Amino acid sequence: MLSADFSKLAEEIAEVESAGVSMIHLDIMDGHFVPNMTFGPPVVAKLRKCTDLVFDTHLMITNPEKYADKFAEAGSDHITFHIETVDDPKKFVEYLRSLKVTVGVTLNPETPVEAIKDVITMCDMVLVMTVHPGFGGQKFIDEAAQKCVQIRQIAGDNVRIEVDGGIDPVTTPKAISYGADTLVAGNAIFSKPDRKAAIEAIRTAKM
Ligand code: MG
Repeated sequence: MLSADFSKLAEEIAEVESAGVSMIHLDIMDGHFVPNMTFGPPVVAKLRKCTDLVFDTHLMITNPEKYADKFAEAGSDHITFHIETVDDPKKFVEYLRSLKVTVGVTLNPETPVEAIKDVITMCDMVLVMTVHPGFGGQKFIDEAAQKCVQIRQIAGDNVRIEVDGGIDPVTTPKAISYGADTLVAGNAIFSKPDRKAAIEAIRTAKM
């Protein structure tokens, strides 16, 4: 939703829901871990009343331990944390599970797969950042997307691999060829007047 119009989020969600998206990806930024801010649990709780779609909550925040329960209570179905933000990732994954959410781990473009390798199979999803987090509309970093190959080798077929950043009809086939099965698209959908056509263009994109 980062590229949506924040003054009418409910309408934006309704529009992409009717256009056929399978999840709503909520970018949570604290102005500390990333140089930008978005919104927190109270807004998530309000949005929860607008749709039954899965809320895929991407925490780009320092101290996720302090706020994860608030996002779960607000109605997040899935919570992804940055490996760079926790000292004991295994313990944090277990804690997230206790909040009855599905769990994702993510890594910045410059963070190697090594950093997450011990928790990959504990998670439901690995999110591969294909831009430096903080802003929408950035260019897809191909070398970062290539980490999907190594992650897929460790994860097997039971863990989803999601890519986030610069996803459009041109970059989608590349990400899929590296092993991604879940795509986050922001600007490629919300910058287009016809959201349904924009989603279809991504779904049917070929090399
Ligand atoms: Mg995101």
